[in-house]
Amino acid sequence: MATLTNSTLPSLGTPLLSRIGNTPLIRLERVAAHLPGIQILGKAEWANPGGSVKDRAASAIVADAQQRGLLAPGKHLLDATSGNTGIAYAMLGAAMGFPVTLCVPSNVSPERKRILQAYGANVEWTDPADGSDGAIRKARALAAEESEKYFYANQYGNDANWRAHYLSTANEIWKQTDGQITHFVAGLGTSGTFVGTTRRLKELNPAIQCISMQPDSPFNGLEGLKHMATAIVPPIYDSALADRNVEMETEAAYIMAKRLGRTEGLLVGVSAAAAVATCLRIAEEEAAKGKEAVIVTILADAADKYLSERFWSE
Ligand code: PMP
Repeated sequence: MATLTNSTLPSLGTPLLSRIGNTPLIRLERVAAHLPGIQILGKAEWANPGGSVKDRAASAIVADAQQRGLLAPGKHLLDATSGNTGIAYAMLGAAMGFPVTLCVPSNVSPERKRILQAYGANVEWTDPADGSDGAIRKARALAAEESEKYFYANQYGNDANWRAHYLSTANEIWKQTDGQITHFVAGLGTSGTFVGTTRRLKELNPAIQCISMQPDSPFNGLEGLKHMATAIVPPIYDSALADRNVEMETEAAYIMAKRLGRTEGLLVGVSAAAAVATCLRIAEEEAAKGKEAVIVTILADAADKYLSERFWSE
């Protein structure tokens, strides 16, 4: 096995932002309790100061842009986002003192709208019918029209996004499992989490099975995730990295979200629930083969921002 190297995210100089990363790895006690020799572990990414896994990528993108002089004083950070990256940028802008402009589909939950406003971000609302692709097109147009004003962060094509996970998430998981991880599962949005974590885990132990997960349809309720076959494919995505790709049904994610709340005491977002549902499928397959497994996934955020969704009360 390879040895561990540097696992830190770049310092952004404020105590709040030094709290990004090093999240707890939580063992799910009940979901796989019926499967002997199988553990499912989740990275509690809501423990980041902005409340999601996207603090890692956003802070790495900002640090990289500052180092390269792209986010000079007075420039606005501009990007397209349907939620968590926008919240992370808005928090970073407020803490570090740069303006933030976000292109966001107007059907995001009211909770998200309020959070962005509370951090003081400027928001350009885009047509929900155009999904996240509409927000991307709007950001590209603004960046082209006013290149003096904006630093276009372009999370979908920015290598600092996946590198954040290569340098932090993967090494944390390796350390927290004492190198015992056998499977890694992550949902695909920009794909930064999956691509960066997988690249590093495969260096540490090429036998680790890395499984990407995406919604089974473009019309899904798995906020934060992309149906790659119909979306603008992110330039940082590399489909060859996955040992396997699982397509998850929204309904199965909703059922798992409720189950995690009631049986584990974990109120997670729907993409996290979809990730755990994927882990459970893999766990059942491994158990059926009589194998032991340590399956690690990313719990991208908590349920707070989604509590107005109807499935919670159905
Ligand atoms: N889950 C949630 C809730 C997200 O907001 C995101 C980011 N869009 C993801 C998963 C996927 O992360 P990534 O962009 O790194 O693929």
